[in-house]
Amino acid sequence: MTDLHVNIRPLGAVRGLVAGFAFGLTLFPSAAWTADWVPVAEEPRHRPVFENEQAIILDVNLPPGYVSLYHEHRIDLLYVTITGTQVWAQPLNGERMDADVATGDLRFSSDNHDLPHIHQVANVGSSPFHIIGIGRKGADHSKAGTIAIDGDTEGLVLDQQKTQASVYRIRLAPGEKTGEHRHNLPHAHVFLTDGMLSVGSGGTIPVTAGQFLWQPGNITHVYENGGDQPLEIVEMQWR
Ligand SMILES: [Zn+2]
Repeated sequence: MTDLHVNIRPLGAVRGLVAGFAFGLTLFPSAAWTADWVPVAEEPRHRPVFENEQAIILDVNLPPGYVSLYHEHRIDLLYVTITGTQVWAQPLNGERMDADVATGDLRFSSDNHDLPHIHQVANVGSSPFHIIGIGRKGADHSKAGTIAIDGDTEGLVLDQQKTQASVYRIRLAPGEKTGEHRHNLPHAHVFLTDGMLSVGSGGTIPVTAGQFLWQPGNITHVYENGGDQPLEIVEMQWR
């Protein structure tokens, strides 16, 4: 009896230690939860509007005075500014930074910070802060030697270049058109202006600023401004 009693005591003490250690560990995640951030798709003004295996597109529209929730970005997004204004951004536990974002500005999230990244953004201007964010999903890049675009690329002006994508601006006066070019890889467009877009035999369609169009690879096209105002398009080409 005595031996058994002695053996049980140290065991009880060890159990207590283990329990205390486990309790200590659980404090870390609960402390992070109280910091109160959400995945970007759950931020009410960051609306996922398109997603497939290759791309995700977010429509971000912050009215004047809006302060976003802290939210986490995991994918590098190209931000196409449909309407710019004065904003600030604050990384979680970091310093607030003010910025004037101009309508038509293009930038990648990786230009400003590493990913993943948690931050909060506020619109402190008097116009809506409206941006379209396009992200390439999947780490696979095209096989070496694949030419992303060939043919006549007249009218496509390279604006940004990253490992995962090249970004072109297309500005067309009324009646003007691009050369006929072929996209061998997926690509996405965002319209920066309202207008009329003619796509050869596909006819002429009205487009509005902020409208986007995702397209798979193996597409040949010509874009023509079929309206009476300048037309501006951003083309993000997968690499
Ligand atoms: Zn094109």
